[in-house]
Amino acid sequence: MSEPPLSKGPFALADRFRHAAIALIAVLVVVILVQTEIVVSTEDAVERSMRYDIAMTGLNGRLDAVNAMERLSRYAASGAAQDAETARLFYDILAGRIDTWLSGAFGAFVAEEPARRETLLRLRREVAALAPAYARLSEPGQVAAIDAILSDVVADMSRIGGEAMMDNLRKANEIRETLRQHQRLQHRLIVTLICFGALLLVFMSIQARRLKRARAEAERNARGFEAVSRRDPLTDLANRLAFNAALEEALRARAARNDGHGLFLLALDLDGFKGINDMLGHVAGDRLLVSVARRLEEIAHGWGGEALIARLGGDEFTVLLWVPGGTEAAVARAREVIEALQRPHELDYGSVVVNASIGLASATPDIAQGTVFMQNADLALGQAKAAGKGRVRVYDSSMRVNATRRQTIEAGIEDALRDGDIVPHYQPQVDMASGRITGMEALARWYHPRLGWVPPSEFVPIAEASGQIVEIGRHILRSACRDATLIGDAVPVSVNLSVAQLAQRDLAETVAAILKETGLPARRLKLEVTESMVMSDPHRAVAMLERLKRLGVWLALDDFGTGYSALSYLRSFDWDELKIDRTFVQTLETDPNSLSIITSIVELARRLDIAVTVEGVETPAQVRLLTEVGCTIAQGFLYGRPVPAPEFGAMLLRSLQGKGHGPAPASGPGNVARAAVRS
Ligand code: C2E
Ligand code: CA
Ligand code: CA
Repeated sequence: MSEPPLSKGPFALADRFRHAAIALIAVLVVVILVQTEIVVSTEDAVERSMRYDIAMTGLNGRLDAVNAMERLSRYAASGAAQDAETARLFYDILAGRIDTWLSGAFGAFVAEEPARRETLLRLRREVAALAPAYARLSEPGQVAAIDAILSDVVADMSRIGGEAMMDNLRKANEIRETLRQHQRLQHRLIVTLICFGALLLVFMSIQARRLKRARAEAERNARGFEAVSRRDPLTDLANRLAFNAALEEALRARAARNDGHGLFLLALDLDGFKGINDMLGHVAGDRLLVSVARRLEEIAHGWGGEALIARLGGDEFTVLLWVPGGTEAAVARAREVIEALQRPHELDYGSVVVNASIGLASATPDIAQGTVFMQNADLALGQAKAAGKGRVRVYDSSMRVNATRRQTIEAGIEDALRDGDIVPHYQPQVDMASGRITGMEALARWYHPRLGWVPPSEFVPIAEASGQIVEIGRHILRSACRDATLIGDAVPVSVNLSVAQLAQRDLAETVAAILKETGLPARRLKLEVTESMVMSDPHRAVAMLERLKRLGVWLALDDFGTGYSALSYLRSFDWDELKIDRTFVQTLETDPNSLSIITSIVELARRLDIAVTVEGVETPAQVRLLTEVGCTIAQGFLYGRPVPAPEFGAMLLRSLQGKGHGPAPASGPGNVARAAVRS
């Protein structure tokens, strides 16, 4: 992918736009300044044109001089008194005119040349000097004298008036020229503005094209990012986002599809993944998830590809698939998935075996939303997990009720612990030959104020998921140790540990503190752990088990034979006891394999000096078969169900008094003489 670096693009564009905008503002400022200047200087020119309108004044002056001369001549010809008066009047007008010429706009013109001003000042003096002569016009010689002076005055004023005319013309020309220049400048400005506008348009269209390209590129990149954001980075499967979109899409596509394929959703969860993560570390956990993802892809490939696999987070996987045929076919595929996942996963740390639980939901016509579809699969998954490892459960509407029940249970644990509603009951472990009780297992019991008895198979997984199992476990351990001391010192008490407890760093300290607090000797406490907790010889689990063992407590390997079972696990730790899972006992009479498996386990355990207890013994026939292959200790409904501590105390007393237990032949009174029920 050789995408050009996007980062520069938009910034470069933004820069160019900024520059263009600055240039535009600068041009506008210049245009405004120039325009202002033009307006000011035009006003100036107009004002000047008014100020320099002196031609008229000049012409009028000349006329006044000529008139004065003419009226004098008329009087000389007529000698009439009235003409004398008129001559005098025009003399006054001339004198006034000369004064006018020395002031105002004309005065300014006159002052431009000193000689001109001199001439005019002289004329004023000369004209002023004529006043006595005009007074005495009738006297001989006066008219001639005046006439001589006036001739000069007319000549001089004509010259100055002519100059004024010329000056006015010149100034007018100058103004016209200025105005013409302004006009030219304005034209240029307009042309500049038009050019600039056009340029800007071109520039903007180029930029718009570039922006469009940049946007397209950004969109392309965003799509790239989206593609990345739609994949789970660890497994490269679709992530929740992509899955949700595909889910909605598939639900929409349902109507158009009529090839007899049904749409199904598998919600898959690895059993005990948290434990693997806690014990093997996150790196191994991640490797396992990748391996699971590849295997899911492999199997979906085998179906012809009509499946979308996604990882929603943690060890939560989903598979959306079209299946020809109904729910039966879908269940078959879910089982295929479980079987495929059960094959050992090769990690750097050795091989790991996992089981998966699957909730299956079918897209019935009433399901319109992906969220509802998903919820259904999740509810079925919850049921599958509660039912045990490696199960498939198909959603049905009663599970919605169960979901509420689950919430009630989860929310009620805290109160139950506080109110003492969760207590251990005790189930005897019995020597099949003598019927004598040799031990007791503490099994948690919860009487819920609303739900009644809630079995541990229901609330323990819920508490495990919510983390509250640590609290419950500690509470049961404390209660069991106390009850054991009260019941008497005849038998040890077995307490179940959960993965979460084993993962607690201070488990050994907690156990030691409880032993000290209750006064129970360590050798009377047995802790039961399942092999799933100790998978692949994880360093930490074994280290913790060793610390517990150093306290002096016994350690039992529970549910042996289920799930991950391998005889090699027996060697992974120095176990004191092995509990054979009841599934083997249940199939004892029907499946010859079960008997041979039990036989080899017992054989191996004897060689490793590990005590064996068989769980779930319900019939005398089972007792017979088990004793034949060398089993001695059993636990099961045949000998007694889990009962509260006082009842167990009574049961134990009877056993010690030699009344035996269950149907097995009691071989006389037990040799534990000092046992007593102190509760
Ligand atoms: P588990 O440790 O395997 O306990 C034995 C279970 O088998 C008990 O079920 C017991 O009632 C049942 N059982 C005993 N004899 C027979 C029999 O003859 N036939 C049949 N069908 N069942 C028999 P329960 O009490 O329901 O406990 C279920 C599981 O819940 C236990 O299995 C254990 O894993 C867990 N659990 C119980 N109490 C605790 C606890 O305090 N802490 C932890 N972490 N888990 C507990
Ligand atoms: Ca147990
Ligand atoms: Ca068990």
